[in-house]
Amino acid sequence: MAFTLPELPYARDALEPHMSRETLEFHYGKHHKTYVDTANKLIAGTEFENTTLDEAVKKASGKLFNNVAQIWNHNFFWEGLTPSQTAPGKKLADALVKQFGGIDDFKKLMTETAIGTFGSGWAWLVKKPDGTLAVSSTSNAGNPLTGGDKPLLTVDVWEHAYYIDYRNARATYLEHYWALVNWAFVEKNLG
Ligand code: MN
Repeated sequence: MAFTLPELPYARDALEPHMSRETLEFHYGKHHKTYVDTANKLIAGTEFENTTLDEAVKKASGKLFNNVAQIWNHNFFWEGLTPSQTAPGKKLADALVKQFGGIDDFKKLMTETAIGTFGSGWAWLVKKPDGTLAVSSTSNAGNPLTGGDKPLLTVDVWEHAYYIDYRNARATYLEHYWALVNWAFVEKNLG
């Protein structure tokens, strides 16, 4: 069972002006696709030919982990964006207020965590096994599933995510990211 590159749930230019068509063509069409192609080459003839993507992320190591986790992370990142943003629903808003003091406090913490991630990686909103929420950061292909946390939202802070649109300005990219966050997706993940 080969891994596949999911279709984006919106057009390549749908996230403009915050994220350009050119960024999606490279980030989704080349970077994300390459992780899928590389993972499929690596699993040929191995036990991972018949595992789901989630299982592969939890069990793989080394180069295969890097590629399957990057497939997972990008699938989740794209689903967490929308060209038609709506406000957080009551259940999610209440959870963010309870954990972080407010929605803006949560956004500030996640922004600081994303900007503070050294080098390539991801910032996450996760639900921990005890049900509390937390903001965390992973390096390179790191994914919270391997630590037992459930991802609710992520932002990609690899340079390829923002260099076409904002050059080195990760903070500017983050400002625009918040205009695209799919709060309904986050609330669905909250469960
Ligand atoms: Mn990326």
